[in-house]
Amino acid sequence: MAVRAEPGLGQAFSRAEIGAFVDEVVAPRAAEFDRAGRIDLSMVTEFAARGLWGAVLPTTEGGTGAGMTALALVHEEVGRGCSAMRSLLTVHSMALYALDRWGTEAAKSRWKADLVSGAALGAFCLTEAEAGSDFTAVRATARHEGDEWILDGHKLWVTGGQLADVLLVFARTANGPAVFLVDAASPGIRRIPVSGITGTRGSQVAEIVFENCRIGSDAIIGPAGMGLAIATGVLDIGRFSVAAGCVGILQACLRASVDYANTRHQGGALLREHQLVQQMIATIATNTRAARLLVRQAAQLKDAGSPDTLMATCIAKQFAATSAVAAANDAVQLHGARGCSDEYPVGRYLRDAKVMEIIEGSTQMQHVLIATDACRNQARVVDVE
Ligand SMILES: Cc1cc2nc3c(=O)[nH]c(=O)nc-3n(C[C@H](O)[C@H](O)[C@H](O)COP(=O)(O)OP(=O)(O)OC[C@H]3O[C@@H](n4cnc5c(N)ncnc54)[C@H](O)[C@@H]3O)c2cc1C
Repeated sequence: MAVRAEPGLGQAFSRAEIGAFVDEVVAPRAAEFDRAGRIDLSMVTEFAARGLWGAVLPTTEGGTGAGMTALALVHEEVGRGCSAMRSLLTVHSMALYALDRWGTEAAKSRWKADLVSGAALGAFCLTEAEAGSDFTAVRATARHEGDEWILDGHKLWVTGGQLADVLLVFARTANGPAVFLVDAASPGIRRIPVSGITGTRGSQVAEIVFENCRIGSDAIIGPAGMGLAIATGVLDIGRFSVAAGCVGILQACLRASVDYANTRHQGGALLREHQLVQQMIATIATNTRAARLLVRQAAQLKDAGSPDTLMATCIAKQFAATSAVAAANDAVQLHGARGCSDEYPVGRYLRDAKVMEIIEGSTQMQHVLIATDACRNQARVVDVE
């Protein structure tokens, strides 16, 4: 896509500012994007004007953000309004983060400014038919020949794959797993749009096929053989963003449930006066706060440079995603038949939340990681000062 955008204005983000933007510009279009299975490209420019595409990098690194606590706030607020836009922001942020942390100087000078400003959009290509939760099973290959790498492989479920200008691609090389930042306009790339997904329908998912795709030597991100370590680092950022996005879904479920319970009468009383309805609202409210605090702890550990952030992020993602599904389920329940119609957003929240339990490491994979860590570290307490 060829949207040109002014560099981001936002140097730091306040909840009030981003929240107002989401309420006025993003949330009102979410149902339309869901129905159409695509976003309106004006959204790319709107996000660019607020510096959101570059928020994953602090200003000291040429980005528009102010650290991971601010990033969580942005992704929570966007996720509250539209999970499809948040998903696009997530994968873009993963590509930009990888470029900044491991990219060659040539790749940075080619892509970084455009990714920060939103003039180019990034996507993340890891999953294949055989490589799902077990990403060590990647079969895509990259051969080094002269001044070029030659990519072959078939990637599935690429969020933003229909739109992206730059693809972060995981492949095997003679020296082990590696990561490449690929110009999506390179010859030998075919995109196959995917439709009819349960949730995040506007996120323009595609399959991407690489056939004898020739890219420059400097397209490699980090040395060949370091691919699994880079995947872990990039997935941590994706997981963190999804966790924050799930807090947004929880908050949206709380708002919708409270609004409905405050106005609907049954059995001679407002819904909010029925104790079983109160139980649902109380659980959503409690889990929203708990998930937000878990994401904040993961953010603070990231900002402090602590390796404990990896596990804190797994825990936050697991809790936020499962709580978002439960909250959206209750929100539909509380709306009765209307919850099953397009008239209210809660049905979309439920479909979007379910996707969050699968992407960036499924709930089961988080359970495996969390239990392994808890047993290895003998139930150690991790706290933030
Ligand atoms: C809307 C959407 C967008 C996506 N976007 C992207 C993207 O941008 N880029 C990308 O690369 N991928 C993307 N994905 C793919 C996603 O990351 C994978 O679907 C996910 O990693 C799970 O892989 P899988 O679907 O092959 O399931 P599988 O790995 O086959 O898992 C199937 C089930 O088995 C469970 N399971 C698997 N292994 C274990 C185990 N060891 N222990 C316990 N349980 C296990 C899983 O939890 C799951 O419930 C997207 C998926 C969706 C639905």
